[in-house]
Amino acid sequence: MNEHYFIKCTNCNHLNSFKTEFVTFCDQCGKKLKNNFQEWIKNNPGKTIKDFKKEICVTDNGHSAVKIPLKRNRYRIFVPLLIGVLVLFLVWINFAPIDLKAIYLPSKTPTAILKDNWNRSTYGKYGIAISAPEKLVKIEPNYPDELKPYIVEMESFNYRPSKKFTVAINNTFFKEQVRLSL
Ligand SMILES: [Zn+2]
Repeated sequence: MNEHYFIKCTNCNHLNSFKTEFVTFCDQCGKKLKNNFQEWIKNNPGKTIKDFKKEICVTDNGHSAVKIPLKRNRYRIFVPLLIGVLVLFLVWINFAPIDLKAIYLPSKTPTAILKDNWNRSTYGKYGIAISAPEKLVKIEPNYPDELKPYIVEMESFNYRPSKKFTVAINNTFFKEQVRLSL
């Protein structure tokens, strides 16, 4: 059976399938693979692809050896991103439940909200797009004290046409080691 060979990325540990001898860049992080075949063969004249596979490549028969770095690596890249994109899209009603009902009755909903054309805009460095009656404005983020040590940065945007209606986006970029259960 043909074994499958991978070049391990020294930057992100991704295992790049060694499909051809021209695999030069990491599929996952896009960085140049330090141990790509073309450069290796320059430094190892006379050697063959077979030697390269044996000396440099990783095989996939050690299943766990493949899976673990992949998982960890995915986690490292995607989790902070995901959390960064964790949008708290809040429709705040700062009053008792009776008002909460009232705002959803057409007669009570501010006409501007119903009649204005809702425009789709993109907010923040993570490019969160939402539709709202007005463009949200960037505001000073309100860092919750208990989360401060875990936050790299926050971006906040809101739109508050009336006291009873607020649309807000909070982009929170947590430190890498933070695990959120969503
Ligand atoms: Zn990589």
